Amino acid sequence: MKKLSLAGQIFIALVLAIIVGLVLGSAHAGFANSYIKPFGTIFLNLVKFIVVPVVIFSIISGIISMKDIRKVGVIGLRTVIYYLCTTAGAIVIGLIGASIFKGFFPVIATTDLSYQAKAATPFMDTIVGIFPSNIIAPMANASMLQVIVMALLFGFAIILLDEKHVSPAIQLVDAMNSISMKIMELILKLSPIGVFCLLCPVVAANGAQIIGSLAMVLLTAYLCYIIHMAVVYSASVKMLGGMSPLKFFKGMAPAMIFAFSSASSVGTLPINMDCCEKIGADKEITSFVLPLGATINMDGTAIYQGVCAIFIAACYGIDLTLGQMLTIVLTATLASIGTAGVPGAGMIMLAMVLASVGLPIDGIALVAGVDRIFDMGRTVVNITGDASCAVCVTKMVEKKK
Ligand code: ASP
Repeated sequence: MKKLSLAGQIFIALVLAIIVGLVLGSAHAGFANSYIKPFGTIFLNLVKFIVVPVVIFSIISGIISMKDIRKVGVIGLRTVIYYLCTTAGAIVIGLIGASIFKGFFPVIATTDLSYQAKAATPFMDTIVGIFPSNIIAPMANASMLQVIVMALLFGFAIILLDEKHVSPAIQLVDAMNSISMKIMELILKLSPIGVFCLLCPVVAANGAQIIGSLAMVLLTAYLCYIIHMAVVYSASVKMLGGMSPLKFFKGMAPAMIFAFSSASSVGTLPINMDCCEKIGADKEITSFVLPLGATINMDGTAIYQGVCAIFIAACYGIDLTLGQMLTIVLTATLASIGTAGVPGAGMIMLAMVLASVGLPIDGIALVAGVDRIFDMGRTVVNITGDASCAVCVTKMVEKKK
């Protein structure tokens, strides 16, 4: 018999969690909380455990891979600027979209979701707080901005030093990156159990209302995905790439469909390269821009993180301040750089975004069950963003000649 795919297993877990949750109902919510939820907590603990190593090693190895960027000079700089700007734009769209629909996200007033809002920290303290004063605390407390600063410093130091001198470090980082990715993959294999054990008690306590709100948050994310592609990518391929958006999207369709079904940017890479070359992107540029994009450019993931942060905040009855929103833009941009182009990676990074503004990480429980549906859409946006960059950079380099 063919083994059921992880997505299939998660979907079954989701349906079972809803059915069992509704059957248990509020009368037996205590049972669900005492005996089912702890297994979900184990899953979440494992997610929290792996997020720091994944962020550290993937950012350092991302920077090490940028060593080539210095070589390719102009192309590299333009690519990175394009990636950062479109990603920041994507989160802003996600935050605005979710804020508009926020009224439809209900406050879920259960005891297990209760949350004490932290007093807002003054702006200057937030800035000061980004910089770590020792190496252990940021990792121990999962202070994500500090962890990122640490990773950036180590990464840049490695590329600034003589390669001969630091090659063991480069190998170590590469190996540790692969190892933490592998651990993440193993943890994600448990997600059907995690999803069931996390969602079932929530449905038992809150009834069918929670299902409606999940549908709303999915709809919001998909709307933002479509707006981002239709507005930002159409405008950039038209204005910077001199290509009609229709031609672009038509040519990209095979890669987009593949991304939707595989939920992996890295897996979509070969077909994405093929599509880009067919619509006229330069082969050399494509082979630089797309692999880099599949590792560091994740606009769809950024939108998802913005939407989910607002959704989770709304579920806990928290209104995010402007400062917190700006922190989300910053962390989600960096988080998307650290997100691996494999299924489910964006959800792990959501933990980091939530932690950065003091939102409860347990809120992931609310969206974990439908993560695959978010993931399919965000991967389409991720790879389309990379392709739009290849088209634009091709044109810019042509002009220079
Ligand atoms: N699955 C996404 C990708 O491969 C990453 C994510 O989970 O957001 O692009």
